[in-house]
Amino acid sequence: MADLGNPKNTIEIIQKYQFAFQKKFGQNFLIDTHVLEKIIRAAGVTKDDLVLEIGPGIGTMTQYLAEASRQVIAVEIDSNLIPILKETLADYENVLVINQDILKVDINQLAKEYNGGRPIKVVANLPYYITTPIIMGLFESHVPIDNITVMVQKEVADRMQVGPGSKDYGALSLAVQYYAQPYIVANVPPNCFIPRPNVGSAVIRLTRHEKPPVEVKDEKLMFRLIRASFNQRRKTLQNGLNNSPEVPYTKEQIAAAIDSLGVSPSVRGEALGLEQFAALANCFCDMEK
Ligand code: SAM
Repeated sequence: MADLGNPKNTIEIIQKYQFAFQKKFGQNFLIDTHVLEKIIRAAGVTKDDLVLEIGPGIGTMTQYLAEASRQVIAVEIDSNLIPILKETLADYENVLVINQDILKVDINQLAKEYNGGRPIKVVANLPYYITTPIIMGLFESHVPIDNITVMVQKEVADRMQVGPGSKDYGALSLAVQYYAQPYIVANVPPNCFIPRPNVGSAVIRLTRHEKPPVEVKDEKLMFRLIRASFNQRRKTLQNGLNNSPEVPYTKEQIAAAIDSLGVSPSVRGEALGLEQFAALANCFCDMEK
């Protein structure tokens, strides 16, 4: 099968099947061989690896992944793409295509069945409308993962990577950095896709930490505090936590917990790093006892 990274081949397949792009599925197919090669290299895919691809589209990146890995599992929601994938991936025996919504797939079970529970790699040109639920779902369900190397909207890649003091810093930055080390591999302009997206894109590699960089007694509580702090970005941390139905502590307890961090009582949540949110959560945990 011809390399779909070549735009001519992609256009040919789309015309042959009269494929109609569906906006609601975030369908922008990659047509740049250099970007495709860069993604595979950045993910560090080897012949030992099981790779999960989310949204193979017409199979462009899947072809590259099949060449580089031991086995690819590609999960695609759009059933109109399944006959196309049959043709474009016919040369590869190491690709399993599953016609499903990725948010409904039991990835732990796949990792167990196809990789003996060993860490898998996730590589994808993600549908942008569900980037965050996909990535957080992968981390929170504790799927064994080596790294997630994905194309996302540029602005979202920036948010994942920054720390306190940046306007892009928020709940997503903290959640990603609790689970992984982010690294932006490349910025990718709209002309590398068909059809062209309205936004810039970036490839980001999230290398899973073996152990989180901070010790937290109650992860869920820490994430509740983080959400409450950033829900009301312009408010002080004290007010953000007081006003949140997710934070069941008294005004006095909240003031004491903030004081224990050694920061000003009027500090804003956006000034705190992961370590401080962990310390705050641990302080509330101790109060409960
Ligand atoms: N991998 C292809 C490429 O790089 O050319 C296509 C990438 S395109 C940005 C996103 C793909 O994800 C589309 O094929 C779309 O149909 C698929 N998709 C969208 N939502 C999905 C979901 N919930 N589960 C699985 N696949 C999904």
